[in-house]
Amino acid sequence: MSITSRTITRRKLLQLGSALAASSVAAIGTPIAAAADAPRLEEKDSTAQSLGYRHDATKVDKAKFPTFVAGAICANCRLYQAKKGDAWGGCQIFGAKLVNAKGWCAGYVKAAA
Ligand code: SF4
Repeated sequence: MSITSRTITRRKLLQLGSALAASSVAAIGTPIAAAADAPRLEEKDSTAQSLGYRHDATKVDKAKFPTFVAGAICANCRLYQAKKGDAWGGCQIFGAKLVNAKGWCAGYVKAAA
């Protein structure tokens, strides 16, 4: 038995790595739309805390999150997923949990006008 028949070639290893990377990117890049009756994100959620999420954007800790700008709220964030006027909606960061339309977190990306 030759060693080469049992050895993963460098090319195969690179192919596996590329496939794994592609599947990871696809999984991350695929937003999970939260259903209207989905649970609401809690401010004490660890990810919410790390991103400074608040249900009321006026209560964001501006010293800790200096990227916050007045007027930035979930409802005008590119990652927000809801119908116009909905009080709560999905967010591509928080997956299956709803965020408040008047909320904010450090993941905010201004939606195109
Ligand atoms: Fe709100 Fe946007 Fe942060 Fe999601 S990413 S919680 S929609 S500000």
